[in-house]
Amino acid sequence: MKRIALALSALLLVAAGDPATETEHTVTEGETLGGIANRAGVAPGVIAAANGLVEPYAVRVGQVLVIPRQRTHTVKAGETGFAIAMDYGVPFELVAVANGLEPPYAIRVGQKLIIPAYSDREVPVAPVRDTPYFRPPHDGVQLLGFQRRPDGTGHEGIDYAVKPGDMVRAAASGRVVYAQTDSGRFGPLVVLDHGNGWRTRYGHLARVTVKLGDMVKAGERVGIAGQGGNATRPELHFDILKDNVPVDPAGKLSGGSGK
Ligand SMILES: [Zn+2]
Repeated sequence: MKRIALALSALLLVAAGDPATETEHTVTEGETLGGIANRAGVAPGVIAAANGLVEPYAVRVGQVLVIPRQRTHTVKAGETGFAIAMDYGVPFELVAVANGLEPPYAIRVGQKLIIPAYSDREVPVAPVRDTPYFRPPHDGVQLLGFQRRPDGTGHEGIDYAVKPGDMVRAAASGRVVYAQTDSGRFGPLVVLDHGNGWRTRYGHLARVTVKLGDMVKAGERVGIAGQGGNATRPELHFDILKDNVPVDPAGKLSGGSGK
């Protein structure tokens, strides 16, 4: 009897799965989508899309979530995003979300596309999200928040206190559309494009660690924090733009930076 009990508990342990490799996850007490995504190493937006979750992304105990594991595909001449997605048997919407692609979904030869793994298990149709899921780029204390005055002046984002050398992380998956060692006011600056007119900017860096055109996943490093440009102390300037207009990040950020 004891032997059977031991064997059973070993089976249960195996069934519980390793967060780094599991392709399905059963939600337990106290878990959030952000926490599950962090442990799985998969962007929360990708998990949300794969499971048809909509904001505010509430998950319930016992719910089985598909965890889309990612592969990459290097685009060859003549390929289209739709054809590549079809080859991998993955809905194109998931490929678009994972890579921050937006209409008309242009891709270029040599581009590395993230191919989210996809289970054939019946899941609700993934809604096409037009707002990315943003998380803080750094865990530092907020030095200055978003301010908008009637005359259009103010502060277009959040300044975080940093220690020089800290990692600065992508708030959401996207493509690097600006990576300069000196942009003036912000010094070394990175701008990510997340599709549908959404962009995030990371300024006052000590160093940029991505190149123009790179695809980065949410939580990946885009630069090293410092005191670049006109910063008077070590800080990170972070802002979120929609169609080039700054929006208050406070209402858009959720969860930790994944540190
Ligand atoms: Zn600032």
